Amino acid sequence: MDTTRIQTVPATATEAVQRSRSVDRVVRGIATSDGAGVKLTRVLTQNLQRRLDPFLMLDAFGTDNKDDYIGGFPDHPHRGFETITYMLAGRMRHRDSAGHEGLLENGGAQWMVAGAGVVHSELPEQEDGRMEGFQLWLNLPAADKMTTPWYRDMPASAIPTVALPSGGTVRVLAGASHGVAGAVTRPVTQPLYLDVHLPAGQTFAQTLTAGHNAFLYVYRGAVTVGDADGAVVEAQRMGVLDNATRADGVVIKANEDARFLLIAGQPLNEPIAQYGPFVMNTQDQIYQTLADFRDGRFATIPANQAS
Ligand code: MN
Repeated sequence: MDTTRIQTVPATATEAVQRSRSVDRVVRGIATSDGAGVKLTRVLTQNLQRRLDPFLMLDAFGTDNKDDYIGGFPDHPHRGFETITYMLAGRMRHRDSAGHEGLLENGGAQWMVAGAGVVHSELPEQEDGRMEGFQLWLNLPAADKMTTPWYRDMPASAIPTVALPSGGTVRVLAGASHGVAGAVTRPVTQPLYLDVHLPAGQTFAQTLTAGHNAFLYVYRGAVTVGDADGAVVEAQRMGVLDNATRADGVVIKANEDARFLLIAGQPLNEPIAQYGPFVMNTQDQIYQTLADFRDGRFATIPANQAS
């Protein structure tokens, strides 16, 4: 990450957690490939979509070998949900069917609402070196699945980074932490998306809304969640947090220098019908989507660059 472009801000509030949620399941991702042969780990897989509603997918990618990423993701469609791409290292060029273009690089993110449909490409703009980051899929409520598409490119400097009083930092992509509002706020699903960097021995607390599904994904080091005898989540593992009604947040301790994503959101409790890059509520809507895509009705949708 290009830390020279990240300005930290002080915390303006504490996160007072009386009782922490626990990990009720540790998940090891599945190695797979997508796009034109990009190697990645699918951390949140289809069988967890109900449990982690409103989140549909989390892919983690990280490699120094260009053969693992050089093919990128050539033109492909999406409809019915949002994609959030967070780049720790590397450069990826985005282009869509409405003529929009953006460069996603070191520490930046792109938030895209596919809504009624986009066709886009995501291609590496580097021929060697490290490529590391994540893509999260966030569902849209039934009433918003056919909304006008938009996206927002957020350079590293646009993502608030909070210096924690006890050491470490939290980057607030969405939601709020320690009194600092994130780069993006979304209605209905109210996503919280944090990237937490903690030195060994330090503890991080975050309040979580009761009823919101939540998980963490550790990508460096190892952490203990909840009590001192709580579950240990090691690097490249996801910890699914329980929904204990008495818990008001989560407390996470770094067993060694650790970095992890903490993600939570309000479940939609609506039917999920997925066919590859299309996520709707019913099979009939999927058939309609396939027909719309086949007949070229995606490429004519004007995406507007939101501010
Ligand atoms: Mn895509």
